[in-house]
Amino acid sequence: MDNTKIILDENEMPRSWYNILPDLPTPLEPPLNPATNEPIGPEDLSPIFPMALIMQEMSQDRYIDIPEEIRDIYRLWRPSPLYRAHRLEAALKTPARIYYKYEGVSPAGSHKPNTSLAQAYYNMKEGVERISTETGAGQWGSALSMACSFFDIECMVYMVKSSFYQKPYRKSLINLWGGTVIPSPSNQTRAGRSILEKYPDTSGSLGIAISEAVEDAATHENTKYSLGSVLNHVMLHQTIIGQEAMAQMAKVDDYPDMVIGCVGGGSNFAGISFPFVQEMIKDGKEIDVVAVEPSACPTLTGGEFRYDFGDMAQMTPLLKMYTLGHEFVPPPIHAGGLRYHGDSPIISRLYADGIIRAEAYHQTEIFDAAVTFARTEGIVPAPESAHAIKSAMKGALKCKETGEEKTILFNLSGHGHFDMGSYDSYFNGTLSND
Ligand SMILES: *Cc1c(COP(=O)(O)O)cnc(C)c1O
Repeated sequence: MDNTKIILDENEMPRSWYNILPDLPTPLEPPLNPATNEPIGPEDLSPIFPMALIMQEMSQDRYIDIPEEIRDIYRLWRPSPLYRAHRLEAALKTPARIYYKYEGVSPAGSHKPNTSLAQAYYNMKEGVERISTETGAGQWGSALSMACSFFDIECMVYMVKSSFYQKPYRKSLINLWGGTVIPSPSNQTRAGRSILEKYPDTSGSLGIAISEAVEDAATHENTKYSLGSVLNHVMLHQTIIGQEAMAQMAKVDDYPDMVIGCVGGGSNFAGISFPFVQEMIKDGKEIDVVAVEPSACPTLTGGEFRYDFGDMAQMTPLLKMYTLGHEFVPPPIHAGGLRYHGDSPIISRLYADGIIRAEAYHQTEIFDAAVTFARTEGIVPAPESAHAIKSAMKGALKCKETGEEKTILFNLSGHGHFDMGSYDSYFNGTLSND
């Protein structure tokens, strides 16, 4: 049998992140200041972000060195393994070869520490003592809390209310690593109080929690804000995933025909796909690159490509992206990390240009796929990651019909060990099919 687990040595870990901005066929439209409708400059962002990250956000350098201090911490779990899904292939009776890159091996259980460490590091370098953020399912809040503990920074997390009660152990994890977490909307910010007044029973949303975290950073001494997805510098930090995957596939002399990732704000999808998209753009490689989202929050497949706010209270710059509108509050599906009204401007641009495509699935079919995966490959996937599994299975079943021996690569963005309540609902039949 061909390899099951394809690993790289620590010394083979990439030394730089890949910045796709200089390779985009259509340049991005700039973020705008909502008061003036003028493009924003670095100064506009400096109250809430450290300068090093602002520079990365706007950089046209194709490769940006990963500082040694960050690589040293990455080494705790990176390079992450690439698996060949032999048992899933057999269960599906497909001629396709399915590979998955597993990011659940990080201490926080997802891809998010790839950027949380980088962000905490650059904040520490600039003397920041406290970071505020939002979190959906708690993956980002816990990843940032861990990173802040490594660099001795205080961490304040506004957690979307529906997830705060659905995923209690993610809260515990944030506390364990030294962070503070409260449900959003909260009465600690003006944005939170005004939303609670209008919608006292709201389940919350990432758009609301972002408003609270940005306001917190703007109104506290020596506090900056940190975002776990959407922005260019976050996509950048995640590209270590795809660079490793490409090197791992080369070790077994294979190359993907399909590259798949789930999309909330787009960071793990960017991570697995951008190094391959570079080869599509520069070398004319033909790859079917698929972004997978929930039908309950269909940003790419059902949204509009226009300027919109990143948050509900209209505190962020305007970003040109696919959006369902900044007031959109998605149903409280269990894939809390995919409940965002917008998407990365880079991914939006690639989608608008037809370089990538998108699929959307309902919650029960996602859990069907997750259970099939767990029963064949063993790993319990996060509900978010199960969207990518579903799409990979669909691609593999299509190969079964056509007899094509395609190579399918997807990103398994995280494990679902803190999502067992969601699996319980699936098995006891109380999961809604949003
Ligand atoms: C946060 C999260 C996502 C969605 O965020 P992206 O920025 O779109 O990657 C997906 N999977 C897992 C496991 C997550 O924690």
